[in-house]
Amino acid sequence: MAEPNTFGIAGLLGWPVAHSRSPVIHNHWLAHYGIPGRYVLFGVPPEKLEAAVRGIAALGLRGCNVTTPHKQAIFPLLDHVDDLARRIGAVNTVVVEKDGTLSGFNNDGNGFIQSLRDVDPKWQPDSGPILVLGAGGAACAVVASLAAQGAKEIRLANRTPDKAQDIAAAVGSVVKVLPWERREEALDGVALLANATSLGSAGKPPLEIALDRLPRGALVGDLIYVPPETPLLAAARQRGNVTVNGLGLLLNQARPAFNAWFGVMPEITPALKQAIAATF
Ligand code: NAP
Repeated sequence: MAEPNTFGIAGLLGWPVAHSRSPVIHNHWLAHYGIPGRYVLFGVPPEKLEAAVRGIAALGLRGCNVTTPHKQAIFPLLDHVDDLARRIGAVNTVVVEKDGTLSGFNNDGNGFIQSLRDVDPKWQPDSGPILVLGAGGAACAVVASLAAQGAKEIRLANRTPDKAQDIAAAVGSVVKVLPWERREEALDGVALLANATSLGSAGKPPLEIALDRLPRGALVGDLIYVPPETPLLAAARQRGNVTVNGLGLLLNQARPAFNAWFGVMPEITPALKQAIAATF
């Protein structure tokens, strides 16, 4: 067994990784809580994933985050994957356990839900019907986590309907798949509209959706945080809906990971938000 590292190292495995804001978040917390350690970026091409993962425990790392394109490919390389990550079909956090085994989790969906509660503490996944747009990895995390936290009806629309059907099959009958073309009617009576497509992110066309049928009391969440306010969020804010961008997800998914690696549940402070804002 290796000598335990008092200097804690964690990082991000992905390809590419240079764009990530995760080092800003975790290194801010390490400094704030006076914990000796560092969060670093590991650019790992797909053909080197297995060797890199085998090295995580051997090098004495506390764990890592996992991003594109490794979130699925890492499954067989882990000793244990928790139920929610299995249902999502993707891992975004790996923790090295005391015995050196590797456990995989996915905190993205719960991070998104917490970001909604941060702006509206009364909102709950069962507050009313939910419309989720998109059926990629992020949508799957959001839908599975909403269902796990008690959502009663999740309407799901995606340009490619088969991918929405796959999520419904994995998550259960609480998910109702709707044609992409009917996304505006699906706004009727919702308590939450969540954009989990990449439409509206920097360099992509905006999400096209008229919000006339959206109740004024509904929350509108966009997983995108570059730009900080997508055209969807701007339109929703202008008509009086409370809006949340993807920064809240990014920050909230990082909290349980930091806690597992470094033993402190960190807080999201104005200083941390400022540090992130400075990177835009
Ligand atoms: P993904 O797996 O590539 O999925 C992309 C989704 O966008 C799919 O549903 C895709 O539909 C849809 N889409 C793309 N172009 C479209 C178009 N022209 N018309 C209609 N739909 C279109 O990506 P992901 O990992 O799920 O991420 C989705 C978004 O969430 C990205 O913008 C990502 O940056 C963001 N995200 C943010 C965080 C965070 O920390 N805040 C975390 C994860 C993801 P098809 O299935 O039809 O292709």
